Amino acid sequence: MKLSQPKSARTINTARVLGCLRTHDNLSKAETARVLDLNKVSTGEIVDDLISEGLVKETGKMESTNGRRPICLSIVSDARYVLSVDIGSKNTTVALCNLLSEPLHFERIPTVTKDRKVEEFCVEIIKSCIRVIRLADKTKILGAGISVGGKVSEDGRTIISCPYLPWDNIPIAEAFEQVLKMQAVARNSTYALVDAERYASYGTDLLVSNDPIIYIEWGNSVNMALVCADRVFGAGNGFAHLKVSQTGLCSCGQIGCLEANVSAWALSGNTETHLKDLWTKVEKETLQCMANAIAMTVQITGSSKVVISGEGATITDYCLRELQKLCPGMEITRSNLGEKANIMAAAEIALDKWVYMTSMLEKMRSWL
Ligand SMILES: [Zn+2]
Repeated sequence: MKLSQPKSARTINTARVLGCLRTHDNLSKAETARVLDLNKVSTGEIVDDLISEGLVKETGKMESTNGRRPICLSIVSDARYVLSVDIGSKNTTVALCNLLSEPLHFERIPTVTKDRKVEEFCVEIIKSCIRVIRLADKTKILGAGISVGGKVSEDGRTIISCPYLPWDNIPIAEAFEQVLKMQAVARNSTYALVDAERYASYGTDLLVSNDPIIYIEWGNSVNMALVCADRVFGAGNGFAHLKVSQTGLCSCGQIGCLEANVSAWALSGNTETHLKDLWTKVEKETLQCMANAIAMTVQITGSSKVVISGEGATITDYCLRELQKLCPGMEITRSNLGEKANIMAAAEIALDKWVYMTSMLEKMRSWL
């Protein structure tokens, strides 16, 4: 299979088979055909092609009641890789991830700061990518997924604007193609997290609700998107700057913004500390600030469910319970993505584009 070839019916069905094997364990060829409502013969052909290309393997026989023992299939996770680039407000992470969006190696560099020019930052991203690319056979790397807390063009090629970078219509995909000879696609980081949540934890009901779900990316910045049925919208940086307190000088110059009270940098006083190491220091006042922001959002959206993601996916049971107490009537859950949520989400942007094509398949279904 040429993963980047035009989308013929065969390519689409190949992506569906891969997506199905990713989200279901121990399927046989026949069961894959049944789950996808696809012809058994063509499913068999697709699987055989995937096996000969090393993308899928047979993992032995499974139990069956009628005496026949079909062979189970699974994805060969390290058959291909993607580069994951998460450009956060304080730090940027570059990672090599496998076909299950698991990071195999990653490194973190500071994003632009007062003493660090944009040009230097761009050079550092490129250098970091080169170091990470060296760790794998380059021919196995399909492309780069780039997540950023700003506005990205619909086609994923241009970063239109970003609140923490002086970037204005930066043709990021073209830059990657020219400098690294690698195709790239970008997406807003909160949207990318929602996609990763839905695609990677397929089958769970975390993002199923009759009301819009407030999906919060909590880390060195605090972003929010609303998830309603299969639609995601509203990701901007307004949530970070809701006034939730009388104190806390924010990067925007105002006092009392959410970001200035609950972000990792606000809690630790530096930009290096990860939110996962700060929960024991989180006090009721901090959680009250988050609860205030949630309450304001609920007033506008009528939501009854909140999912905490990004670095916030590491929130402890204790903090989650305390936050829950401050938000009566709301259901507050942590993301399934775990502490590497942002890395996995950026990887998912690339995997969606060049392997599983989940977002395109969803769009096609919505046309029917
Ligand atoms: Zn602010």
